[in-house]
Amino acid sequence: MNKREIMGLDLPELQEALMSLGLKKFRAEQVFRWLYEKAAVSFDEMSNLSKETRALLAAHFTIAAGEVRVLKEYRSADGLTHKVLLGLPDGASVETVLMHHDYGYSACLSSQVGCAMNCAFCASGLHGFVRNLTAAEILAQLYYFQNRLQKTGDRVSRVVIMGSGEPMLNLEQVLKALDVLHHDKGQCIGYRNMTISTCGVVPGIEELTRQGRTINLAISLHAATEELRNRLMPVNRRYPFQQAVAAADAYEKMNGRQVMYEYILLAGINDRESDARALADVLAHRECVVNLIPANPVPEKGFARPDDRQVDRFFQYLKKRHINVTVRKEMGKDINAACGQLRASMIKEAKA
Ligand code: SF4
Repeated sequence: MNKREIMGLDLPELQEALMSLGLKKFRAEQVFRWLYEKAAVSFDEMSNLSKETRALLAAHFTIAAGEVRVLKEYRSADGLTHKVLLGLPDGASVETVLMHHDYGYSACLSSQVGCAMNCAFCASGLHGFVRNLTAAEILAQLYYFQNRLQKTGDRVSRVVIMGSGEPMLNLEQVLKALDVLHHDKGQCIGYRNMTISTCGVVPGIEELTRQGRTINLAISLHAATEELRNRLMPVNRRYPFQQAVAAADAYEKMNGRQVMYEYILLAGINDRESDARALADVLAHRECVVNLIPANPVPEKGFARPDDRQVDRFFQYLKKRHINVTVRKEMGKDINAACGQLRASMIKEAKA
């Protein structure tokens, strides 16, 4: 018998699924709490269910968080970044990162296996797009960490969909996973503590606006002229960045959440004063924050990180133009923490 995946089901779906097995409706809330609040990875852990009920559930369902296996695992030297490459039952693999900030733990989750967007500086697209992740597989990444954290009374309090893949091309499953994490009988993570990052897929931003949650939106901009952005991010040919910025304005208007623009600084490519000027010209007078990210070099892509003086010059120029700007604290540089690097290195090893 083919088992059905239970993670990703919301409470009404779980009620329906369990009742179809002849279980009482209230059992669904118990199972919901085990899965999403207590981060159980097997039915055996569900101690307030009878042995028969646990066996019945195990005969009909799988739990994605218990099905993944760790293919690679790294911790940064400072102990603040923990990155894993998780193997999925079908042989695909996906990267996920846990970061320990001074405000708590934040998980960076992937939304797809590989990526079709082919941004010039990114390792995720190196081996093309494989498939979308299901809500269960997105949740399994977070619960892999949560299952371990709760043993010490800790929890993931922030989620960013900023790992491999373009979340707007898998928005339904991404939102399903985020809704489960938001649920008050689960991890109860506020939408305001969640961020979806897109390379600028305009219909996705518009759909997110229509849906009306208070999730934060981040746009990976990385260039503010059509010519340079076309070169760095092929998505720009389909959705010119001015359209993405206009869609982000509408999003900000809808939920009052400041949009974040991410800008990876690549030495000699997009880190000159003329680039800073173009960026300031686009974003001046907008309710937004710019997050500068000194590049985490991907050797296969041939880009380098600018030196600290150059990063500071870029930062100061934006400040002078009254742009709300920060420089991302570099975490996990020693463990290939930029998205896609771990999976790309494993594929490379496998081919060697
Ligand atoms: S930066 Fe994001 S959208 Fe671009 S290739 Fe990498 S994962 Fe895909």
